[in-house]
Amino acid sequence: MLFQSFLIKYAEIGTKGKNRFLFEDALMKQIRHALKTVEGTFLVTKEFGRIYVDAKGDYDYEETVDALKQVFGIAWICPMFQTEEKDFTLLKKEVISYVEQVYPERKLTFKVDSRRADKKYPISSEQMNRDLGEAVLEAFPEMKVDVHHPQVLLKVEIRNLVNIYSVMIAGPGGMPVGTNGKAMLLLSGGIDSPVAGYMIAKRGVVLEAVYFHAPPYTSERAKQKVVDLAKLVSRYSGPIKLHVVNFTDIQLYIYEKCPHEELTIIMRRYMMRIAQTIAEETGCLALITGESIGQVASQTVQSLAATNEVCTMPVFRPVIGFDKQEIVDISEKIGTFETSIQPFEDCCTIFVAKHPVTKPNIRVIRSSETNLEEKIDGMVKTAIENREEILVS
Ligand code: ATP
Ligand code: MG
Repeated sequence: MLFQSFLIKYAEIGTKGKNRFLFEDALMKQIRHALKTVEGTFLVTKEFGRIYVDAKGDYDYEETVDALKQVFGIAWICPMFQTEEKDFTLLKKEVISYVEQVYPERKLTFKVDSRRADKKYPISSEQMNRDLGEAVLEAFPEMKVDVHHPQVLLKVEIRNLVNIYSVMIAGPGGMPVGTNGKAMLLLSGGIDSPVAGYMIAKRGVVLEAVYFHAPPYTSERAKQKVVDLAKLVSRYSGPIKLHVVNFTDIQLYIYEKCPHEELTIIMRRYMMRIAQTIAEETGCLALITGESIGQVASQTVQSLAATNEVCTMPVFRPVIGFDKQEIVDISEKIGTFETSIQPFEDCCTIFVAKHPVTKPNIRVIRSSETNLEEKIDGMVKTAIENREEILVS
């Protein structure tokens, strides 16, 4: 095994002042969680401004890097050599051994960039740069120094231990999940809502999800697709509690009592109301949807305003200004696209009118909803009480 340790660099959480330790601890927790499925035993520790992952014994390098690439809050993953050796003559040998093993091809330009976090260390960083550079040149005359655009930027950090690294693999950025409250994602089987959930989790928010199921109009397979999508999102967000609400009776009742061209909007208003009630019960502070302006009739600005009117909680719509292709690009990147495009019916498509209103008037919609007064509250209550909860991880 070439590398036994990784230096984890974080970006934004470095700016959180006194609360920094909370962010670091959340990040360490998420790293441990992500590494659970990876072959190997890992020790995750922190030192001021740095997090380390040490593999104890054999482990799978590729799998480890892939798992770390899914942890929000990580800016860079740097496989490194870590040594206790601070004696400068011996440290030179360590650095040479690093270059020898990591760059067997050798014919490269390089520059040494050392840092003394431990100010008691007797050699200045400039001096270390010069001496270590010379030592590398002496050992490998085919290498060349290039201080402006080196192919290899060799970092040597003197801390409690000495970190030697030059490879930097980009992490996903964002903030560690668990540092920003919890929100309820309205998760359908489409392309947009899993992307929306990913984007909000990336800002540190824990996710729960709700799916409106309409059996027998929507199949068990359609529900399984949503569970599969939740599982894919949970690789980034951590475990997701998925609430499956049976929406059939409510949909049929709206179909029976309201003008068909208003059906989608009224249905969406009930979805939001129910999602919000469950969110309040479970400690979620906001709702998340995959809506994007103008994508379909129910997402014109007028329709969004009509849907939003029933919500008192903030509704996060992270893909609101994205074109479909931009959303597709993210879904491909995060690995949800292939599942999202599986052809299973969606509960909205079954009851869609031929000519849905695209500019709903809120007063008209409210008045249509009065046709539901007799039974709707009871139906909503029953749907919420009888929901199924699935823990997806
Ligand atoms: P998606 O690709 O996310 O399904 P969409 O383009 O199909 O979105 P709509 O069907 O209008 O758009 O739904 C808009 C948003 O409403 C979805 O992104 C999702 O957040 C929510 N939503 C729609 N249908 C459901 C459902 N059956 N269960 C839960 N949420 C839903
Ligand atoms: Mg949909």
